[in-house]
Amino acid sequence: MRSTLDILQSVFGYPSFRPPQDEIISSLVNGDDALVLMPTGGGKSLCYQIPALVRDGCGIVISPLIALMEDQVTALRLLGVRAAYLNSSLDASSSNQVENALLANELDLLYIAPERLSQARMIQLLQKSSISLFAIDEAHCVSQWGHDFRADYLRLSLLHQLFPEIPRIALTATADERTRQEIITRLELEQAGQFIAGFDRPNIRYRIALKHNGKQQLLKFLREEHENDAGIIYCLSRKKTEDIAYWLQSEGFNALPYHAGLAATTRSEHQKKFLREEGVIVVATIAFGMGIDKPDVRFVAHMDLPKTIESYYQETGRAGRDGEAANAWMIYGLQDVIKLRQMMSNSDGNEEFKRAEQHRLNAMLGLCEITSCRRQALLSYFGETMEQACGNCDTCLQPPNTWDGTEAARMALSVAYRTEQRFGVNHLIDVLRGADTDKIFQFNHHHLASYGIGKDLDNNQWRSVFRQLVARGFLSVDLDKFGALCLEESCRALLRGEESIELRRDVKQKTAKRQTKTALAADIDIALWEALRECRRIFAEDQGVPPYVIFHDSSLQEMAISLPRDMTEFSLISGVGERKLEKYGPAFLRVVGDHLAT
Ligand code: ADP
Ligand code: ZN
Repeated sequence: MRSTLDILQSVFGYPSFRPPQDEIISSLVNGDDALVLMPTGGGKSLCYQIPALVRDGCGIVISPLIALMEDQVTALRLLGVRAAYLNSSLDASSSNQVENALLANELDLLYIAPERLSQARMIQLLQKSSISLFAIDEAHCVSQWGHDFRADYLRLSLLHQLFPEIPRIALTATADERTRQEIITRLELEQAGQFIAGFDRPNIRYRIALKHNGKQQLLKFLREEHENDAGIIYCLSRKKTEDIAYWLQSEGFNALPYHAGLAATTRSEHQKKFLREEGVIVVATIAFGMGIDKPDVRFVAHMDLPKTIESYYQETGRAGRDGEAANAWMIYGLQDVIKLRQMMSNSDGNEEFKRAEQHRLNAMLGLCEITSCRRQALLSYFGETMEQACGNCDTCLQPPNTWDGTEAARMALSVAYRTEQRFGVNHLIDVLRGADTDKIFQFNHHHLASYGIGKDLDNNQWRSVFRQLVARGFLSVDLDKFGALCLEESCRALLRGEESIELRRDVKQKTAKRQTKTALAADIDIALWEALRECRRIFAEDQGVPPYVIFHDSSLQEMAISLPRDMTEFSLISGVGERKLEKYGPAFLRVVGDHLAT
């Protein structure tokens, strides 16, 4: 039997395991079940791919991501792994071929869609075959609590019942305890070893800024930091995704919209472009993302506030799976808070559910307004402690200023009170600033004690005060009254002057240093880099796969730095296994050779 490390090195071309990969792999090789929680990009696939290569028989991978199966299988075949898939996209004769290969024990890995398991024929096929393991990918789909629930996943408990001897591994990147428990119960994984990797994604830089002119802010961010990079931009509404996508096109970006309202063919075409071509930006609603395992997404931008920290974390987690620097960039403002609260109050569901939703939104708002390290806050939300501030989030890099907002907060709360909690933020600011609008005279607000007492702060500063009061739960937004601001119980002490409040000083976003731009090491020759990329592009096109399936950027970088001269030196590059060495080595060596000769 080949050792697992040997397989990692010779087939996948990686020098060492990332813990806890090795532990997971040996427990499967020993025939035990495993439940794996690992962040996106953590390296889950190897945890079942390697045991499937070590053990006799074929590893069955159950995945809901039909659109990705073909790419996954192609990538494995390029490594010399005998992989195949069965899903509804195959015609009868191709399916037959795959089935025969399975029966003949000629496959190492077979990817199937979960709905296949409801076919008696599929079960019989499995019973007649030699199977090394079952891998249940995106295992959180079995949870009705989560948002990716798939009824077909409920049937997966039959694997345990029908094949009690065959080890199973369930994998997910979803963290929370409740989902984890549901996976264990529904998939009958009580005996499984649990492997929980830390959830930190140190290469992602979290940044949350105040929205003042969303489009221009986005443009500046892209121009300065991600001119040619692939990325995802999330918006709350379908209309906005199209609006932003077409506008970015007019600004010269390769941007495409994606939402559930587009025709299925358009959607899959846009997804395919994103995966296959370089530097494509997808502007999407949350309908886009699950199973987008493109490693070189350099940024995820949020134009609107996500509803929960869970969604924020999941969406931002799609950046930088390759471990290289990536940005999670978000802008938000008072309007977002109002809009989200509105959506929630209109949602179905009982009171308890709505309260829970409200609670999660508050946590999200707390993350936006926080003045300490964002990563610490994020991880602590998921129950992980991080001793030190991270040094790679906006609050670490540019510590925000705070100011004593007690007086301003009192003015803001009392103007809401004196106008009978019937008015929205714009009018309240008008009153505070002593404006002379029709509305003020109509309601006689120029006679209030609050009228004109807030001239020291400008409009934006007041908005900032109100936003923070809403975010911290001192004020709520009454949606039945067109966004009127109402006092919450908790504001009493503040109003009476028994409590003080530190507010965040909003700054116009400064330009971040360009550190996150695809970080090319300083001593890389650009001409060589481009030549290597071109060589990769030609192979990718020829084989109909995304460029990163041939080699990751990090492998190309290593080539450009170490300048391998022969096959032995080339084999030392991370990501170069035996097959790729043989197949691509000569061409890439020629590129390096030509470069050295000039
Ligand atoms: P996940 O499914 O957990 O999101 P993947 O399995 O797609 O992550 O792995 C993410 C990336 O990390 C892939 O490009 C993979 O090849 C790479 N990777 C995984 N394990 C290792 C390792 N031990 N050494 C180097 N790269 C690895
Ligand atoms: Zn930090």
